[in-house]
Amino acid sequence: MEQAHEKPTPKGLWGGLALWKKILVGMILGVIAGSLLGPDAEILKPIGTLFINAIKMLIVPLVFCSLVVGVTSMQDTRKMGRIGAKAIVIYLSTTAVAISIGLGLSTILAPGAGLEMTATAAASEAKEAPTLVQTLLSLIPNNPISALATGNILQIIVFALGLGVALNLCGEKGKPAVQVFESLAEAMYKLTELVMKLAPYGIFGLMAWVAGKYGLEILLPLFKVIAVAYIGSLLHVLLFYPAVIKVFGRLNPMPYIKGIATPAAVAFTTTSSSGTLPASIKCAREELGVSKGVSSFVLPLGATINMDGTALYQGVAALFVAQAFGINLEFADYVAIVMTATLASIGTAGVPGAGLIMLSLVLTTVGLPMEGLAIVAGIDRILDMARTTVNVCGDLMVAVLVGRSEDELDTEVYHRSTEKTTLT
Ligand code: ASP
Repeated sequence: MEQAHEKPTPKGLWGGLALWKKILVGMILGVIAGSLLGPDAEILKPIGTLFINAIKMLIVPLVFCSLVVGVTSMQDTRKMGRIGAKAIVIYLSTTAVAISIGLGLSTILAPGAGLEMTATAAASEAKEAPTLVQTLLSLIPNNPISALATGNILQIIVFALGLGVALNLCGEKGKPAVQVFESLAEAMYKLTELVMKLAPYGIFGLMAWVAGKYGLEILLPLFKVIAVAYIGSLLHVLLFYPAVIKVFGRLNPMPYIKGIATPAAVAFTTTSSSGTLPASIKCAREELGVSKGVSSFVLPLGATINMDGTALYQGVAALFVAQAFGINLEFADYVAIVMTATLASIGTAGVPGAGLIMLSLVLTTVGLPMEGLAIVAGIDRILDMARTTVNVCGDLMVAVLVGRSEDELDTEVYHRSTEKTTLT
C-alpha cells in the first residue's frame, strides 16, 4: 500500500481534461498521423478495433438489463406504450424532414451534375433488403437466448419489455429478480464508464486509419457529394434538432448541443449507432438528464429504427446518381424516394455500411442504375461517418423530447453543462 501521508497524485494536463476534449485531441492527432503515414496508417487500426470490440461487448447486456430495469421502474404499462408511440411518431417525422433536406440540397447544389456517367460502370453488389412484413414478423424472438447471443436488438427490446412487465405483475415475488437486474444494470453503467476511457485512443486509431486510407486523390472527384451530405447533416443536427428542442421541448438547445459531443464523436469514428449505444445511454442519463426508464427504452429503439442520417444520405445519393447518369426525375419519383428511404432507413441496421445496402432499394424503386451504388461505395466510410453521427444525435434529441413531455427529464442536470461554462 502507498504511504498514508503521500499527497494525492496530480492528474496532470491530460488526465485533467474532460473526455470530449480528449476525444477531440485524439481525432485531430489521428488525422495528422493518417495524413503523414498514408496507407501505412493501417497499423494503427487495431487500437480502434480494440475500442470498438470493447463497446460492442457492452451492448447486449447493457441494453437488456437497463431496459428491464427501465420497465420495472415505471410500473405503469400504459406509460411505456405512450412513450413508445411518441418516440416512433417523432422518429418517423424527423426522418421525413431529413430526406427532404437531402433532396432539397441535392437539387440546389447538384453534386452529380457534369459527371456524365453511362450505365456501364462496374456491377454493384446490391443485396436483397428485407420487406416490411418480414421485419415486423421477426420482432418476436423464437428463442430469447439466441436473440441475446446474436445481438438482435429489436428482439431483445421485445423480450426485455415483456420480462419487465411480467416482473411488475409478479409483485413481491418479482422483487428479487428486479434487484438482480438493477445491480447488473449498475455494473454495466460502470463498465461503460471504464470502456469510455479508451475512447480518445480508439478514436485516434480509427481516424488515422480513415485519413490514411482515403487520401485527397480518392476524395476530390466526389468532393461535391461528400460536401452536400455533410452540409445536410450539419443543418439537420445544428439547426433542425435545436429548433425542435426549442419549439416542442421548450428548452434551451445549447445544453443538448454541448452534451452530445462524446456520443457524436464515437458515432463519427465507429460508424455504428448500435456500437454507440453505451455512449449515448451514458450521455442521455448523465449529461442530458433523461430518466433511466426513457433513455433505456427510447435509445435502443432509436439505434435500430431511427436513421435520419441514413435517410438524408439516401436522398442525396439518389439525386446524385440521377444527375450523374443524366436521368430526369418526376415529382412522383421524389415522393417515392421519400417513402422508400423512410422505410429503408427503418430497416437499416445500426452497423457500418448498412445504409449503402439499403440504398439499392431506393435506387431500384425509382429505376435508377445500380452502377451508381458502385460509385458511392468507394467513399462509403466517409459518408457513413456523417450519417451515423446524425442517426445518434437524432436518437438523443428524441430521448430529450420524450423525457421532457413525460416529466422524465431532470432539467437541473440538463442545464448543468452550460452553467459550468458560464461559471468558469
Ligand atoms: N452506419 C449507420 C449506423 O450505424 C447505418 C448506415 O450505414 O447508414 O447508424
